[in-house]
Amino acid sequence: MIIYNTLTRRKELFEPLHPPYVGMYVCGPTVYGDPHLGHARSAISFDILFRYLLERGYKVRYVRNITDVGHLENDADEGEDKLLKKARLEALEPMEVAKIYTDRYHDMMDALNVRRPSIEPTASGHIMEQIEMVQQIIDAGYGYVINGSVYFDVVKYSTQHHYGALSGREIDKLLAATRDNLEGQDEKRNAVDFALWKRAQPEHIMRWRSPWGEGFPGWHLECSAMGRKYLGEQFDIHGGGMDLQFPHHESEIAQSQIANGHPPCRYWMHNNMITVNGQKMGKSLGNSIMLEAFFTGGHPLLAQAYSPMTVRFFILQAHYRSTLDFSNDALQAAEKGLRRLFDAAKTLASLTPDDHSAVANKNAALADTLVEKVYAALDDDLNTPVAMAHLFDAVRLINAAHDGKEPLSTAAAAALRGLFDDVVTQILGLRDDRQASAAAANVIDGVIRLVLDLRAVAKASRDFAASDRIRDELLKLGVSVKDTKEGTTEYTLPVTD
Ligand code: ZN
Repeated sequence: MIIYNTLTRRKELFEPLHPPYVGMYVCGPTVYGDPHLGHARSAISFDILFRYLLERGYKVRYVRNITDVGHLENDADEGEDKLLKKARLEALEPMEVAKIYTDRYHDMMDALNVRRPSIEPTASGHIMEQIEMVQQIIDAGYGYVINGSVYFDVVKYSTQHHYGALSGREIDKLLAATRDNLEGQDEKRNAVDFALWKRAQPEHIMRWRSPWGEGFPGWHLECSAMGRKYLGEQFDIHGGGMDLQFPHHESEIAQSQIANGHPPCRYWMHNNMITVNGQKMGKSLGNSIMLEAFFTGGHPLLAQAYSPMTVRFFILQAHYRSTLDFSNDALQAAEKGLRRLFDAAKTLASLTPDDHSAVANKNAALADTLVEKVYAALDDDLNTPVAMAHLFDAVRLINAAHDGKEPLSTAAAAALRGLFDDVVTQILGLRDDRQASAAAANVIDGVIRLVLDLRAVAKASRDFAASDRIRDELLKLGVSVKDTKEGTTEYTLPVTD
């Protein structure tokens, strides 16, 4: 498999350090607000990588963190921790805020069929590991303590290493750009230095004891400390959104280099941003759309509601390293594409193969080539748009066979079924949400009928306590039960919108 390594700026053959094991770390969400489309893009991009590596036979340990300690982030002007601000506004404990938004994130990612990572560590659960790393950096001479805060000396680091190698920045330019910026941050030796540990102000609720006084870890530290804890000092892949390259990932590299003596990983992968009419989607521009709004249609920029699978399909239609421009037209096209894809899957299941005509033999060769092309596209830095274009060639083959124009041989039909099972379902993680709801309704009906049968048995043996209990418990779930004069039982489900 070939992947584009952001660090070397070229495509490289992926060779894990300890095959068949692969360790991958991806920066997860900061849980002080609802997930938006950008969160979905990052999670889905690395979900494809996770699924593809698994499909290729690797044993993957996928670590994705939850940032729940509250950070000033790079927005020092705001002066207030975002998580704390939210807690204050909503009159909640900071950990309550973190829990609410962690659950929301999980719900949305589950709806998008994003597989959960192998380990999902929280920053607040790894304070000791972070303190240990800060101490190592101080001991190595690259961290300095001022007024209960600890900073990383980027200037000293830069005499030996290239701070900026990942994002293509030069320390001289960084210093020049930050020279006038020192106001208010004058306890740092240099404006480019970043915090490893921050002294907690009296009003700061999330605080932990440390050798340097009460405080909280710096923004970049948790990923270095938790990556090391679960994946070792050096692992295979580190991923995240492109906006995290600088200063977050750049600083992670510096921390690991000093604490461990080498960089944290071999391959860096970054997904690109989502744009609206060419502008980056973001809260500050007022064009950020929450995921839930997509599913309900509740945003002025949305012409209608889109199912989670439509959103997933839409995201996969662009390569993860390209920008993805949001538009209703593109989402509506994705909705149609998804339907066409799964209609073809259904057609394929009902087709009778024809092994006797010459056309059928020709199509067997075509189907094999298509399968090869789909995997070649995925192998080439997860080129999902190209893979999907070939899937629609498969759709055309299936539809032509269905129309009786060009029959499929048994082998061709099997190859195409393999594409749907392995690529569409397993790797791309797409599913027919129409079918899913029909299947779920079937299960619900079956379960209620079963419970009603048990109630009938209880009644017949004059166990009225049991039969009443069944009726009452069903009613609590909104299912009302009615015995008819004819001796049958009917039920009605609660009304949902
Ligand atoms: Zn991170």
